[in-house]
Amino acid sequence: MSVDRSTIWPYENGKPGTYYYSRYANPTVVEAEQALGALDDGHALLFPSGTGAATALALGLLQPGDTIALAAGCYFGTGVNFKTLARWGLRYVEFDQTGPPPDGVQLVWLEAPSNPFLTMPDLEAAAAHPAPVVVDATASTPVHLRPLEHGADFVLHSATKYLAGHHDALLGAVVCKDEATATALRTFRTVTGIVAAPDPAFLLLRGLKTLEVRVQRQTASAGVIVERLRSHPAVETVRWPGFGGLLSFDVADGDVARRVETATRVIVNATSLGGVTSVMESRARWEGDRVPAGLLRLSVGLEDPEAIWADLAAAFE
Ligand code: PLP
Repeated sequence: MSVDRSTIWPYENGKPGTYYYSRYANPTVVEAEQALGALDDGHALLFPSGTGAATALALGLLQPGDTIALAAGCYFGTGVNFKTLARWGLRYVEFDQTGPPPDGVQLVWLEAPSNPFLTMPDLEAAAAHPAPVVVDATASTPVHLRPLEHGADFVLHSATKYLAGHHDALLGAVVCKDEATATALRTFRTVTGIVAAPDPAFLLLRGLKTLEVRVQRQTASAGVIVERLRSHPAVETVRWPGFGGLLSFDVADGDVARRVETATRVIVNATSLGGVTSVMESRARWEGDRVPAGLLRLSVGLEDPEAIWADLAAAFE
């Protein structure tokens, strides 16, 4: 495992070999794609970010006039992205992913679990829909969910989060069930230039080596934190799907949320999720009244869960 930063490789006997120009293919990126594809049991393609992966998938699959059924309460930026793509004739409608997707859509977009509401989609109902199904499994990771085994056609990951896992690489991935579709999407990626660089791909390879142990520990620690949050008098609602390191909870209002998020010392007051360091933020700063004013999103890291809880408990004081 090493990073190959070359953008060119010599032709072999005057002909392009496997690698010749890195927009077409890069050995470090391909190695990382093979490792991730094995975890999700599909054909993985890397993109410069999770959002770039979503853009490439939407533009690569759909036509102007097509509609995406998007899980309500999913990652805020996905809706913002699709709203921006409306200028090119793509529409989206939101629906409750715990039930069946609406008729008359050309793509179903689920999130397992949704960020920050932590609902799980009805994968069976979605698989019965005639449109292809995308599952953004960023917060589950293949450790907890392999959507292709449940009838999904595509898995989307913000590899920036758990997969790379150290808050130091921006990267996205689409894992396709069907090889021919992956080939078509790879060609779309090459010609539009939405390609991942080798350094983040290398950091993904490094992250995947510890994915299972990191995610299992984050799940165990989140379970401890959730139990204590549920019996804390300052906390109203706790959302957690029963696995993974991502959770959210509500305190009384926006002022209390701000005081709590700025009072922690172990938990960093920052955005994002899925890294070795615990991070927490009030989501209303980004999502406005789409979320409760007192909603705090916590991504549990690898610190001692007792230290995380002591930090939170002190912040509530
Ligand atoms: N999907 C989910 C569930 C996310 O939480 C995020 C980012 O927060 C994204 C996609 C977008 O990923 P990126 O920031 O790598 O573009």
